[in-house]
Amino acid sequence: MTVTGQMLIGQQATLGTHGHIHGLNAATGQVLQPAFGGAAPADLERACALAQAAFEPYRLLPLERRAAFLESIASQILELGDELIERCLLETGLPRARLEGERGRTVGQLRLFAAVVRKGGFLGVRIDPAQPGRQPLPRVDLRLRQMGLGPVAVFGASNFPLAFSVAGGDTASALAAGCPVIVKAHSAHPGTSELVAQAIARAARQQGMPEGVFSLLFDSGRDIGQGLVADSRIKAVGFTGSRSGGMALMQIAAARAEPIPVYAEMSSINPVLLLPHALEERGEQIAPAFVASLTQGAGQFCTNPGLILAVDGPALQRFERAAAEALGHVAAQTMLTPGIYRSYCQGVASLAAHARVQLLAQGPEGQGQQARGALFATSAAAFMACPELRGEIFGPASLIVRCADLTVLQQVLRSLEGQLTIAIHLGEGDQPQVRALLPLLESKAGRLLANGFGTGVEVAHAMVHGGPFPATSDSRSTSVGSLAIQRFLRPVSYQDLPESLLPAELHSANPLQVPQLLDGQGSG
Ligand code: NAP
Repeated sequence: MTVTGQMLIGQQATLGTHGHIHGLNAATGQVLQPAFGGAAPADLERACALAQAAFEPYRLLPLERRAAFLESIASQILELGDELIERCLLETGLPRARLEGERGRTVGQLRLFAAVVRKGGFLGVRIDPAQPGRQPLPRVDLRLRQMGLGPVAVFGASNFPLAFSVAGGDTASALAAGCPVIVKAHSAHPGTSELVAQAIARAARQQGMPEGVFSLLFDSGRDIGQGLVADSRIKAVGFTGSRSGGMALMQIAAARAEPIPVYAEMSSINPVLLLPHALEERGEQIAPAFVASLTQGAGQFCTNPGLILAVDGPALQRFERAAAEALGHVAAQTMLTPGIYRSYCQGVASLAAHARVQLLAQGPEGQGQQARGALFATSAAAFMACPELRGEIFGPASLIVRCADLTVLQQVLRSLEGQLTIAIHLGEGDQPQVRALLPLLESKAGRLLANGFGTGVEVAHAMVHGGPFPATSDSRSTSVGSLAIQRFLRPVSYQDLPESLLPAELHSANPLQVPQLLDGQGSG
C-alpha cells in the first residue's frame, strides 16, 4: 500500500480539494510527501449521510459478524507491515520499538473488543418477567438491553498515533458498541492515518460491512472537525488532546439543538506522593524510576508524572539529588510536533522564570525539536497561592512540592483538579496515612496506584483511564479497557412486547447464551 493523500469516505478513497496539510518529518522538520487534501463541507456531508445510513444495518448484524470485523481490522493493520511503522516513525519521531509495541497494543485492543462483543455481557441484559398474579397489582414484563448510540466522531491523539488514533481505543470501542465511526485525522500523522484507514476499509469490504461504517476526513483548518461535532447525525464524540481543544468541542456539542456527549481526555499532572517511610527507606531507588517514567517517550504521556508531593527534610533532599543526577544522564528526545515542542519550551521557561520556583536539574541539551528533561521544586505555600504552577506541561518536566508535614500535603492534594492517576509510594509504616488519605485520593483520580508510576496503561477489564475534570469531561467513563464500550451505549427497555418481536438476547431461552440478569439474579 502507498500513502496517496486521500481520505476515505465510506469505502471510497477521495482526494480532498479544500486546502491541504502535509506530514512533517519530526526529526528534521522536513515536509513529507504527498500532500493530504482537506475535506470540503460536501465531503463531511457525505461521510455523515453514509454513517447514518450504516447505523441500523451495522448494529443489527449478528454479534459474531461485528466481532469478526474487529478482528479483521487487526489482521489488516498487521498486513501493512513495516510500511506503517516506517511512516509513523517519520511523522512522530517515536522510536521503532515503541511503535511496534503500540501496534501490538492496537491490535490487542481490537481483539479484546471482539471478545467482549462475542460474550455479549456489554448488552447488559436484564429480564423482569411478568407476574400476572402479583397483588395488589400485576407486574408487567420488562426486558432491557444496551444498544449503540449512533455514529461517533473520533479525534485521535497525537501521542498515540496507532493505539489512540484512527483504529485506536475510541474507534474500537465505538465499533464494538455497534456505532459507525468518522475519524478526523490528527494533522500530526496524516500518512499513518491514511494507511490505517485503508486497512479498516479492506476489513470492511472483506467482512461485507455497510459502506458508511467507517470514514476518515482530513481537515485543512478546524471547520471540518467542528462541523463534524455539530452535525445532527453524530451522536457522540471521543477526543484525546489539549484542554482547549476538548473544551471547544464540548461547547459545540452542548450548543447543538440536540446536545450529545463528548468523551474528552484532556489534561492531567498525575501527582506522585512520596510518603515518609518510603522516602526514608528507598527514596534514592525511587528517584531513577521516577526519572525513567518522566522522560519516557519525551514525557508525552497523558499519565506523565508532572507533580511530586513529599514532606520536606533530609530524605526528600536525597531524593532530589538522586533524581537530578539521573535526569542529567537522559538524552533529549524528539517531540511529536513543532507546536508541542514550542509549548513545552514555553512551559519550562515560565517555570524557570517563576520567582517562587527553583530549577533543580535539566537534561542535556538537544537539537531541533528535542526536549530536555526539567525538574523544579517549590513550596506548598507557593503552589497553593499560584494557580499557574498547577497547569500541565506536556513533556518531560516535573515539579516537586515540598510540604511541611502530611497535613500540608493533604491541603495541597485538596487544592488539585481532577487527575487520571495518583501514584502513592509507601512503606509498611505509611499504611495508616494512606488509609486516611484514600477517600480524598478517590475523589481526585480515576486510577490510584502503589509503588509505581502511571505511565504504562494496561488494556484490561479493570482499567480506568479517566478521572474527574479536567482529566476527562466525564468521570463516569474510561477510554482504555473493555469498559470503554459503555460510553457509546444506551439502555432500551421493552415492556410487554411479544418475545417474537424482541432481539434474540432478550429471549427467555437465551439462544445467544449472553449473561442475563433474571429478576435481579444471575450473571447479567
Ligand atoms: P490538540 O491540539 O487538542 O489536538 C487534538 C485534535 O483535536 C486534533 O485533531 C486537532 O486538530 C483537534 N482540535 C484541537 N482543537 C480544536 C478546535 N478548537 N476545534 C476543532 N478541532 C480541534 O492536542 P494535541 O496537539 O494532539 O496534543 C497536545 C496536547 O494534548 C498536550 O499539550 C496535552 O496537554 C494534551 N494531551 C492530553 C492527553 C490526555 O490523555 N490527557 C493525551 C495527549 C495529549 P489538528 O489536527 O488540526 O490540530
